[in-house]
Amino acid sequence: MSLVQEQAAFALDVCKLIQSASDAGFVVTLGEAWRTPEQQAIYFKTGRSKTMNSNHIRRLAVDLNFFMDGVLIYDIDVLRDLGNYWESLHPKNRWGGNFRNLIDVPHFERNVT
Ligand SMILES: [Zn+2]
Repeated sequence: MSLVQEQAAFALDVCKLIQSASDAGFVVTLGEAWRTPEQQAIYFKTGRSKTMNSNHIRRLAVDLNFFMDGVLIYDIDVLRDLGNYWESLHPKNRWGGNFRNLIDVPHFERNVT
């Protein structure tokens, strides 16, 4: 599968995730999706990211904002069902809530190597 095909399939899975979250009562807004290498370098230097090999650079990651009753939700336990749903959509999908080195709850990616 070409990179563009992977990116398109990833985008369709993001649609499913947003719809599922909306059905569960969350209000969902978009955060960062594509990221330039220059922006990634800033995040790496400031400790916001642990890698220069981010899937955001490949357009295969998105950060989403989940609101419940007007409150932005970062609680990993509240969002775990959505993370599990995300990973059930495709074997290459990874949720940042399951990362080992830097938990990143709003982050959803497709890990294509
Ligand atoms: Zn991210």
